[in-house]
Amino acid sequence: MENKFKIYNTLTKQVETIKPNEDGKIAMYTCGPTVYHFAHIGNLRSYIMEDVLEKSLRFVGYDVKRVMNITDVGHLSSDADTGEDKMLKGAKREHKTVMEVAKFYTDAFFADCAKLNIKTPDVVEPATNCIDEFINMITVLLEKGYAYQAGGNVYFDTSKLNDYYVFSSQSEKELLVGVRDDVEEDTNKRNKNDFVLWFTKSKFEDQALKWDSPWGVGYPGWHIECSCISMKHLGEYMDIHCGGVDNIFPHHTNEIAQSESYLGHKWCNYWFHVHHLNDKSGKMSKSKGDFLTVSLLEEKGYNPLVYRMFCLQSHYRKPLEFSYEVLDQMVKTYDKLARKTRSLKNDGEVDKQVYDAFRLKFEDALCNDVNTSMAITVLYDLLKADTNDATKRKLVEDFDQVLSLGLLSAADEKASEQETNGADNELTAYVEEMIAKRAQAKKEKDFAKADAIRNELLEKGIAIKDTREGVVWERV
Ligand code: AMP
Ligand code: ZN
Repeated sequence: MENKFKIYNTLTKQVETIKPNEDGKIAMYTCGPTVYHFAHIGNLRSYIMEDVLEKSLRFVGYDVKRVMNITDVGHLSSDADTGEDKMLKGAKREHKTVMEVAKFYTDAFFADCAKLNIKTPDVVEPATNCIDEFINMITVLLEKGYAYQAGGNVYFDTSKLNDYYVFSSQSEKELLVGVRDDVEEDTNKRNKNDFVLWFTKSKFEDQALKWDSPWGVGYPGWHIECSCISMKHLGEYMDIHCGGVDNIFPHHTNEIAQSESYLGHKWCNYWFHVHHLNDKSGKMSKSKGDFLTVSLLEEKGYNPLVYRMFCLQSHYRKPLEFSYEVLDQMVKTYDKLARKTRSLKNDGEVDKQVYDAFRLKFEDALCNDVNTSMAITVLYDLLKADTNDATKRKLVEDFDQVLSLGLLSAADEKASEQETNGADNELTAYVEEMIAKRAQAKKEKDFAKADAIRNELLEKGIAIKDTREGVVWERV
């Protein structure tokens, strides 16, 4: 088939036309969540945009196979393999076992994805399913001289590569992003950016998940899982690898290092990275513990698809700042759009010429480095176009295979929900203002005022609750 789909490739720093390894097929891999906590809406921005990429590729005719891992072992609080084990941290926080925590947050992740109309990838594989594959790859890396044992652990030796810093021309020092000052340095490492392939260090004795290996009882490092899981399901050649920009270094850099050293040839041709969602205080981060979730948005009365639309309105390669003001605007925009698409009648013949022309315009937007806001503009142009409802309806149906905003199938339900929410906007704004005032009062240690605000809200039938994810409110 004709290749016309262009994306920005982080590897070459250019917008390139995708030429798949196999004609008409795309092998795609997505770094999955670390399941020690809820996904925040920043994480979900990445998954929404990767979902759009997958659906866009299908839309233009590719047969896509997409694989995603679930990180349920091995990810430490610093991406440079130091600090606390994230899964253990979750288990301690919740007085549960690591596997209970993994199951709970994996389910929660897919529940959030469903609410955002994110399709589940064709293959989803938890890291703990693939220990044999990890051991095999590490064994080969040791045999080939790319890895070494030190202090009980197995490390990848980055000095063995001429081009370890494939994504960047920055110096080694500048790239030490994962290493924080408060985390001790791992003195076993021969080079600063060497990374752990297998841990047996006694420091992690309380790690519940341990497996026997040729190097002792222990568990895998974080990076190895993506190399092994992708090869298990997609083979030795991959077309597109996705993740958020924070994955570029060290995670994706390390994935390439170990995969290509193991395979002896180039592994993945295109690297697609989604920029971060930030809040006013900076990057939204799970480890900070204070973040926005889909459930929190729902509790505040927002339809999750409004958040999806918020993400689609901006390009994936630009940082995006979250604010309730913009989300409130988006509620109105979404509502209006859903009302328009919902009112399209299903009578008459589809005008083939108009249909083809609009479909092509929409495809062009997607093929132009997944230009989702341009794709939405095409949708608006269509709704204004001088053609019959049947043609419009058919095109909206097609476009929504990619946008997944529930524009037709779920339009009635979602739009009416939205209308109710629209009517509630004033109330929401008032409650938000009161919550902000109460937060300020608490900050100023004026607890009497804070309580008075809570009571005033209660009198109006609004109960507020302080949770780990922030203040939530409900009608009582
Ligand atoms: P994690 O669960 O921390 O492994 O992250 C899951 C995905 O979310 C990864 O692809 C990250 O790169 C991505 N990610 C993390 N923080 C953000 C953010 N603030 N905005 C967008 N994507 C993010
Ligand atoms: Zn990964």
